[in-house]
Amino acid sequence: MLEIFIKGKRVRIGIFGGTFNPVHNGHKALAVYVQQKLSLDRFDFVPSYNAPHKENMSILPWEFRLRLLSLAVDGLENIRINTLEANRLGKSYTEETLGAYNKENPQAEIFFVLGAESFLALDTWKNGLLLPFLAEFVILQRFSEQDVAIKNFIEKNFPNARYDKCEKKWYLSADKKHGLQIVNNPLYEVSSTVIREKYLKGEDISSLVPELVLNELEQGQESVKRIWQTI
Ligand code: ATP
Repeated sequence: MLEIFIKGKRVRIGIFGGTFNPVHNGHKALAVYVQQKLSLDRFDFVPSYNAPHKENMSILPWEFRLRLLSLAVDGLENIRINTLEANRLGKSYTEETLGAYNKENPQAEIFFVLGAESFLALDTWKNGLLLPFLAEFVILQRFSEQDVAIKNFIEKNFPNARYDKCEKKWYLSADKKHGLQIVNNPLYEVSSTVIREKYLKGEDISSLVPELVLNELEQGQESVKRIWQTI
């Protein structure tokens, strides 16, 4: 019961999925920002075990990505890592992850947090356009001036969606059961891709990843470079 209700309110759980290859300062800062802004009781990083969209990419081993994530979130209040995707065989589909969260936390409010560029590709995900009916989507701005693209995408793919000006939120159906919001977050111009590229060129990435993450990358430098070099 304690897990479901805190002080009579429904527990609010945020889910932040990604490959985290590697986790960077943008991920960390946005996690803290969203957890506070949405008053989430719990914010879970959910690393992808077998990312469907990144099959041909050079991805660090699961245990190592997990270690880097643990170092990045260490000491952050209400923020943790959920490794549930490692328990499933095959590709790590978000549909199954959201299904598992809903099953395990039937009374909770579940929020799925993702960057704008990921949201704009949602129609390429497995049953992507059904996902906002499984959790409230929270879209992070990643580049400036993405608002119009997001609005167009919502109107094209969710014809029943309406924007509620007071609540500053979209609702996907008239019964207001399924919300979707765009967060006015600070922009972080960082990506794991840029970090991998810089690291391979021997450039300084100390302002882009947490210090402990950098130390760990340095310790495993040879393998890290070998993996990131393979395409
Ligand atoms: P890559 O460059 O390898 O694609 P990434 O930096 O996008 O990696 P992911 O692990 O794929 O990192 O990201 C997990 C989630 O975080 C995704 O929803 C992504 O859109 C979002 N995200 C990552 N970096 C940012 C950022 N700088 N601003 C906003 N959202 C971000």
